[in-house]
Amino acid sequence: MKSFPLLPLGTLAGLLLALGTGCATTDFVTGKSVNNAYTLDEDIQLGKGFHAETLAQLNKENQLINQDPVRLGMVRAITGRIAAVSDLPDLPYEITFVGDPKIINAYAFPGGNIMVFEGLWDSKEGLVQTLDELAAVIAHEIAHVTCRHATEEMTREMIPNLAIAGGMIWATLEEDKDLQLLFAGIAVVHNGLIVTRYSRKDELEADRIGMMYMAKAGYDPAAAPRVWDRLAAASDSQMGKALSIFSTHPRDFLRSQELRKHLPEAQALYEAAPVKHKGTRKLSELPPLVTPEK
Ligand SMILES: [Zn+2]
Repeated sequence: MKSFPLLPLGTLAGLLLALGTGCATTDFVTGKSVNNAYTLDEDIQLGKGFHAETLAQLNKENQLINQDPVRLGMVRAITGRIAAVSDLPDLPYEITFVGDPKIINAYAFPGGNIMVFEGLWDSKEGLVQTLDELAAVIAHEIAHVTCRHATEEMTREMIPNLAIAGGMIWATLEEDKDLQLLFAGIAVVHNGLIVTRYSRKDELEADRIGMMYMAKAGYDPAAAPRVWDRLAAASDSQMGKALSIFSTHPRDFLRSQELRKHLPEAQALYEAAPVKHKGTRKLSELPPLVTPEK
């Protein structure tokens, strides 16, 4: 049995660490110094790439993309209003609406591409019931974009990922099958656990910043803790769906408790908002989903 190659990996990690410290940048939302190896333009380019890949996959599955003018108009209007009052109003925000009632989700790619799925307001399994609640989810996603959580996370992952890649190259050069398998295994476990999720800290930040954005845009911020309470109380059948928001977001009541601490600040922003929208409108009153004849 071979011993674990601590020295080459340690040296490699040290080198990468030295390279990685040169990426301090100022956060657009908090004004604090953060590590992000990407520029805002790179956020946009990366997001476009991820979005195109996702669209190709959804097209392969014959999903209905941007087919329903009422729903597309609704999510586009909410996104536009919230983006306009956000810390980065000039990003190329774009909405994609996917008419799949089985997918309960909304997510954002870096740079401002936002995906919303019909299942989000499904009458039985969905997460949101009113326009205000939908605005809370979209505002949370926009906050992930303006806080640049995706590329911050990718920056944090860069060093371990490069170290794993380096380990694999080393194992290949050594022609050591056991080591190659070991590093391939580390790569799978590592990416599977981290890449699809934001950190808990990032989630709480997106919750708080998102609630301020929705309030400034004229949606009642009290809807935000209500949505995360519903997420915490999600049923097992909702949890079972791989692509769903329930599988990628922390499921406990801490989020709504944290949000309620900041609610007075958000309520003040809502009171001061120049326009208030009829956010109590029920999404169950939407006309039937438009599906083209096949
Ligand atoms: Zn999130």
